[in-house]
Amino acid sequence: MRNRFGMAVMVLLMAANAEAEVPRRQMVLTIDDLPSQEVTRASEADLAARNARIVAALKGRNAVGFVNEDKLEIDGKVAPKRVQWLRDWLAAGIELGNHTYNHNGLHATPIADYEQSILDGERVLRPLLAEFKREPRWFRHPYLQAGQDDAVRLRLDGFLEQHGYRIAPVTVDNGEWIYARAYLLLLEAGKRDAARALIPDYIDYMEAKCQFFEQASKRLFGREIPQVLLFHANALNADALPALLDRLRKRGYDFVDLDTALADPAYRHDDGYRGRAGISWLHRWSMAEKKPKVFYEGEPAVPQQVLDLAGVEGE
Ligand SMILES: [Zn+2]
Repeated sequence: MRNRFGMAVMVLLMAANAEAEVPRRQMVLTIDDLPSQEVTRASEADLAARNARIVAALKGRNAVGFVNEDKLEIDGKVAPKRVQWLRDWLAAGIELGNHTYNHNGLHATPIADYEQSILDGERVLRPLLAEFKREPRWFRHPYLQAGQDDAVRLRLDGFLEQHGYRIAPVTVDNGEWIYARAYLLLLEAGKRDAARALIPDYIDYMEAKCQFFEQASKRLFGREIPQVLLFHANALNADALPALLDRLRKRGYDFVDLDTALADPAYRHDDGYRGRAGISWLHRWSMAEKKPKVFYEGEPAVPQQVLDLAGVEGE
């Protein structure tokens, strides 16, 4: 009896200890492609319901959403009810930033056209933010394409500064978009249970990504910096966000705003990347220091089964 009691006490102590050992961490939640990645793939009623669920999950969590204004349009005209969805974000205290009008990639777009897409991306956003006494101040590159040569980067930096924007980098880059595509295809096929069954796997995958970039931060800076997580406004997150955020909280994450995260000196590190892919800023900074291959090894991959469901060849 005594032995068993002693065992129970030990288990309790270990559990308490494990809880005490969860480090306090910081993360910014950023959501791209507002009002929805899937405007052409769902009814207005479904889109509205998904928007409401995402807003409810993010309320009070210092998140930032990034808008593509072409997704506010139906038949080429801005739809007031979709603008109202964005107003719901602002009313919930969530900040909104510019993700260009039409989600064009910097590397395939002449810089003058790209700049115009940023201006076109604030025709609704600027007056909408003004209703809340705010101005657009965050910019997120579509595809995280940040420029392949110094001339384009310098010009874009100058343009963004002139228009009051700061670049919102991403440190926890991930293949959430592949899960989202698989999820949507299953929903469209009427396989709701199969779609739901993807969610636990998705959450494990996202946590593994966080763990990987926590380690990447430790390797580069000797500590964990505030992370910036990227995901998208879609059906998957409308259903999975409460569980995902719960898992992140259990991992020790406090959700902070972008200003707080970017005040960390890590975010002033040189960016050594001029390639075409949209990779984590932690890797871009590591490249500036010419870090060895081991810095990039071990990144969790989207399982083949999910790639197959999504009809995607690779990440
Ligand atoms: Zn995007």
